[in-house]
Amino acid sequence: MYLTFDDGPHPTITPWVMNELDKVGAKGTFFVVGENAERYPETISDLRDKGHVVANHTQHHIKGWINSKEVYLKDIEDCAKVLGNKRLFRPPFGQINFKAIDELKGSYELIMWDVLTKDYLRSLNTKRAQPRIQKATNSGSIIVFHDSENAEKNLKALLPEYLQFLKSEGYKMEVL
Ligand SMILES: [Zn+2]
Repeated sequence: MYLTFDDGPHPTITPWVMNELDKVGAKGTFFVVGENAERYPETISDLRDKGHVVANHTQHHIKGWINSKEVYLKDIEDCAKVLGNKRLFRPPFGQINFKAIDELKGSYELIMWDVLTKDYLRSLNTKRAQPRIQKATNSGSIIVFHDSENAEKNLKALLPEYLQFLKSEGYKMEVL
């Protein structure tokens, strides 16, 4: 299965995630926002040094449905320049710019998810969310967490126990 983390890097939350992944020998795929990557290049280096994958989530976390194709593609290109690679793309808010899809598919694999933690919801009841995300996890699942400040509390409540569940069920946690 595949652990993914969106909206980072963050100077303390992303290292916390890396440490939790280390404990169970897991690797993750981090869909980062280019402007955050520019601000915290050392966190990007740490992710790569540890064998995690750093992927494109636009430069400014923009919406696909309200921006023109040109603006959307430029924001993705700006993030690609910061990262120095083009391989995987995940649209912010799950909103892809439909007119940009064909062009994006030429350079990127578009990665969505099948398990959403909803860790970004302030009102999330993590005691209820834990069994929900565990039940929704299957071989090949792609789960989304957020290494961001608005998700920090829920992320920290959910991730350690979820990783223990994956380990005890024998899942391999691989990068995309
Ligand atoms: Zn996002």
